[in-house]
Amino acid sequence: MTYRVSLIPGDGIGPEVTHAAQVVADATGVGIAWEVVEAGEPAIRKDGTPLPDAVLESIRRTRLCLKGPITTPIGGGFRSVNVTLRQQLDLYASVRPARAIAGEGTRFPETDLIVVREATEGLYSGVEHWVDREHSAAETVAVVTRKACDRVIRFAFELARREGRHRVTAVHKANIMKTTGALFQTAFREMAPRYPEIAADERLIDNMCMQLVKKPSEYDVIVTTNLFGDILSDLCAGLAGGLGVAPGALYGDGIAAFEPVHGSAPKYAGQDRADPVAEILCVELLLRHVGEREAADRVFRAVWETIAEKKVVTYDLALPGYTARPVPASTCSAMAREIARKVPEVDLRAPLPRPGAASSGGADPQLEA
Ligand code: NAD
Repeated sequence: MTYRVSLIPGDGIGPEVTHAAQVVADATGVGIAWEVVEAGEPAIRKDGTPLPDAVLESIRRTRLCLKGPITTPIGGGFRSVNVTLRQQLDLYASVRPARAIAGEGTRFPETDLIVVREATEGLYSGVEHWVDREHSAAETVAVVTRKACDRVIRFAFELARREGRHRVTAVHKANIMKTTGALFQTAFREMAPRYPEIAADERLIDNMCMQLVKKPSEYDVIVTTNLFGDILSDLCAGLAGGLGVAPGALYGDGIAAFEPVHGSAPKYAGQDRADPVAEILCVELLLRHVGEREAADRVFRAVWETIAEKKVVTYDLALPGYTARPVPASTCSAMAREIARKVPEVDLRAPLPRPGAASSGGADPQLEA
């Protein structure tokens, strides 16, 4: 069987990391026909718009998308292509697994949780305006609907059930946001009893941040609104080893798109330096989604072994803080080739290698470099 997949290389480091992901996907032997469509800066140059209709048409046709990051101008310019894509395709559930790979780059090697974020509304509604001509005051409207709360919360419980997870934690700020927060809270309280085998509890967003940085292994599946989910998923990516290794998925009804948590990292664009792991793990999530479990397991294991060996890793995985001792940095393309080489060879029955004690943690090397 051949799967048709829309591929958006994106901009910044996007073309490099998506190419790396294709190299690894090809190594699995699963038939994938890539339909390449441009969005972001390359599309502006070619078509004069960051999101040509052809992109949405392609994804509506293939129902599957692998996406690279796309730059969003700050404080002006065009509206975020990422937000527009989610809203146009109604990709309502953003799923971000935070798994510490090989116990590296984290103080919390046991981290293994999933953040499910409502991705179409909340404070990302796009309803915002200046209050006066002088631009001395502004308003952004948080739109929260019962329908969107219900479907993302149901999605989180179904995901927990499917993946054998035991707990779903709702995160909100219902004590202060007495309408939007309370609506989400009520939807959660009414949905939870339908899943009696799964523990359900709630945290306020501020408390949740503190709890996560103290003991992330206590949490399993987290479900929350758009802005809180955006922030929490980066926080959890940091707990699990950094942005370079954090994949994400977006689900709508019958459509799934896979993209890394990280952005376009413009300062590394075109240098073959970026860490390809997050985008490669998006391929793993895509394969799992279409039922190619063994291929997905092979990709995950090949990534794990490559990071554990530390022979061919990009700069961020080679710095102290990620490894106990610094190792020479490889390129994005070399790391992708190494992972691809391992994909058909790995032994799925062997225990995953744990390279000694976890490193001491320390600051996120990606942010320091
Ligand atoms: P970023 O994730 O691009 O970068 C944050 C830090 O992590 C930087 O130091 C960067 O160099 C490093 N980094 C990120 N990915 C890396 C990788 N694969 N390998 C090694 N280092 C990596 O975040 P930012 O700088 O806030 O955003 C840059 C642009 O990306 C912005 O325009 C933003 O809007 C956009 N963005 C897009 C998406 C998306 O397409 N889904 C997501 C987040 C940010």
